[in-house]
Amino acid sequence: MIIVMEENATEFQINRVAEKLASSGYITHRSTGERYTIIGAVGTSQIDTQEFELLEGVRDVLRITSPFKLASRHFKPEGTRIQIADVEIGGDEVVIMAGPCAVETPEQVETVARHVASCGARILRGGAFKPRTSPYSFQGLGLEGLKLLRHAADRYNLLVVSEVMDHSQIPMFLRYVDILQVGARNMQNFFLLKELGRISKPVLLKRGPAASFEETLLSAEYILSGGNHQVILCERGIKTFETYTRNTLDVSAVPVFKKLSHLPIVVDPSHGTGHRDKIVPMARAALAAGADGLLIEVHQSPEEALCDGAQSLFFHQFEQMMGQLRLIAEAINRNITPNSLANSELVSTLHTW
Ligand code: PEP
Ligand code: MN
Repeated sequence: MIIVMEENATEFQINRVAEKLASSGYITHRSTGERYTIIGAVGTSQIDTQEFELLEGVRDVLRITSPFKLASRHFKPEGTRIQIADVEIGGDEVVIMAGPCAVETPEQVETVARHVASCGARILRGGAFKPRTSPYSFQGLGLEGLKLLRHAADRYNLLVVSEVMDHSQIPMFLRYVDILQVGARNMQNFFLLKELGRISKPVLLKRGPAASFEETLLSAEYILSGGNHQVILCERGIKTFETYTRNTLDVSAVPVFKKLSHLPIVVDPSHGTGHRDKIVPMARAALAAGADGLLIEVHQSPEEALCDGAQSLFFHQFEQMMGQLRLIAEAINRNITPNSLANSELVSTLHTW
């Protein structure tokens, strides 16, 4: 149930509603917008909505029939904006998150961070703990990888997103990353999700390869209901009968999630297609569809990458793509951080790759 308070409702009236909900067995979440305060109530007890409609200061009482409540668009009709340092996710800027699939060496992270930052990326991605299908594949550098990411990101004024695989790693991640990523394989690791509900850093939640929209939003609900309201959804392709691409990138997820939920949504065309030549077209499509950000794999030498080289862009492709994305962003009243490459010594570095 969602209770929308009147524009001029007093704190006393708001608290009275919250207390009445609590005494009826509901857990309440308050969202204070510029004009309206909204109280989301989660619980199973059946109460008469009229009891609340009649309370002073109450404008509207909405029963939500969908199983996710805090993730639903009704809870925050204006949409969620997540502010991390000087980066806002879910606002006018389309935030580009880019970097290697896996952190490999200090030089690699440094080189990639420098390049993506100079092209306008705001967030450095990179796996330090890798969920690999085979136990014999490279598993990541672990803690050392997180340290390398942080170091390179700080140098180029980037934020860090990296995948946390287990709840026991959360304290370590909180020291080094700005956004904790939940990988597609872990989307329904409910214990991990609950623990992420207790932290105060943003979580990037990837849609599972076989998860419906509703299941994805219920996973987000686990984090939100724990008290962490900073969740970013990520579409990264789903399993279908098609084998030509690694996954089928569901671009329709963008308008669907936008309609069902207030949470920002980013798209990962690297895992979504699995092939370098399809990443740029799908990145353009995702942006045009209304994505709030993109997660892109980039490597200084993709043929030698230890992980996902086939779906990592070369530097020049990334730079070119960013130029195209800016044109699309402008057409839909959004923007992307400008490219600073032209004014820096980086141009010469770029041409050596
Ligand atoms: C990743 O982004 O590094 C990753 C492993 O992606 P996914 O969980 O979508 O497979
Ligand atoms: Mn990858």
